[in-house]
Amino acid sequence: RLITFEGPDGSGKSTQVARLALRLEARGLPVVTTREPGGSPGADAIRHIVLSGAAEGLGVETEALLFAAARYDHVRTVIAPALRDGAFVLCDRFLDSTRAYQGSVPGLDQTFLAELEAATTSDVRPDLTLVLDVDSAVSQERISARRQAEAADRFEKDGSDIHQRRRQTFLEIAAREPDRCVVVAGGGSVDEISDRIERIVVERFGL
Ligand code: C5P
Repeated sequence: RLITFEGPDGSGKSTQVARLALRLEARGLPVVTTREPGGSPGADAIRHIVLSGAAEGLGVETEALLFAAARYDHVRTVIAPALRDGAFVLCDRFLDSTRAYQGSVPGLDQTFLAELEAATTSDVRPDLTLVLDVDSAVSQERISARRQAEAADRFEKDGSDIHQRRRQTFLEIAAREPDRCVVVAGGGSVDEISDRIERIVVERFGL
């Protein structure tokens, strides 16, 4: 089973991935957690190239190809083998982040992105996608806290209008694919959100 977590920067994905992993493990289920961009040694190297700005001036298509190369490696070396072993694979970002981030760059050909998506994931599709939706003010606050700790990357420095647009894109994807996607309201405490997510997963997979 592949469960992906999606949402804008600062929506709490990584916290909730870790928490769901603990809860599934507590039920005696095998779990593998991973993330994108990155998730395998090769993909992590590519992540560094793109996010650090080390290769400045890359065109949007080249950047999309690099993210795609990272995903190709990640899917083949980490996700597919874990799924074959029967694990629950929890992935922090996947296909929908490509659609929301690379897909929102003006001038990028959507057909090109769709072809990359097909080529990189083939038969590995998420069984469930949790779209974390938090108020933009909340995510902006988390990002600025991170920025003060100097851990913010290139994309986290984007303005709030862009964040707002991406949030909208995630919600549109969820509305278009209701069988795969569930929007998780980000209001409340971290525990409350974890409870919500656990209920969704338990129900979806009949645990
Ligand atoms: O989720 P995480 O903070 O690890 O993501 C790293 C950065 O990569 C984020 O700032 C996100 O905006 C960016 N990203 C991207 N395109 C993707 C996935 C992530 O630009 N397909």
